[in-house]
Amino acid sequence: MEPDVRRGIRELAVARIVEHADELTALDQAIGDGDHGINMKRGFEAISEIAEEIDALPAGAALQKAGMTLVMKIGGASGPLYGSLLMAMCKAMPGDPASRRDLAASLAEGVEAVKKRGRSHAGEKTMLDVLVPVLGAISADADDPLAAARRAAAKGLAATKDMMATKGRASFLGERSIGHLDPGARSSALLVDAVCDAIEGKI
Ligand code: ADP
Ligand code: MG
Repeated sequence: MEPDVRRGIRELAVARIVEHADELTALDQAIGDGDHGINMKRGFEAISEIAEEIDALPAGAALQKAGMTLVMKIGGASGPLYGSLLMAMCKAMPGDPASRRDLAASLAEGVEAVKKRGRSHAGEKTMLDVLVPVLGAISADADDPLAAARRAAAKGLAATKDMMATKGRASFLGERSIGHLDPGARSSALLVDAVCDAIEGKI
């Protein structure tokens, strides 16, 4: 992956989170404590502040640094979870990812780490309801893995609406969590779209 693609991924990920911070907060107001937008914005802006340092690192080390930054800057549950995702992705990415297969192997490590950290799995109305199907989509040998990833993210996000939360703050609401999209699933879908848009046509 070329340095300008990696830079593009970082820039677009930050931009999308900042642009959608109010929407993420509104989703979290419905079934949580209303801080998901603020949390994500704070974490991703902190990544922007050390952009030069991150861009100069190899892909794996850059993910490690970005993940650490999220863990340190985000107070909520999402900080350690997204931090674990990025830091574990770095394990399967010693060099620069060159193919869909490399990205799939790396995301597989990341998703495993989120499951472990959150003691959670898909179907519990969390970010995993986007990340798990996206991993499935890019692991399959699809003609257009980016389009498949985007579709899986949108479908996974939509499916969280009818789920009852059994993990995180939303689980305190029990059945009253049904009927709302999960904020973390929405932020994951935004990030998947940002990554796809940034690498579109370049991998
Ligand atoms: P907090 O819940 O501490 O206020 P945020 O509002 O920033 O943190 O993040 C909430 C999101 O984190 C949820 O919408 C959900 O997607 C995700 N989440 C919470 N707990 C878990 C978990 N155990 N496993 C996976 N994701 C989780
Ligand atoms: Mg919250």
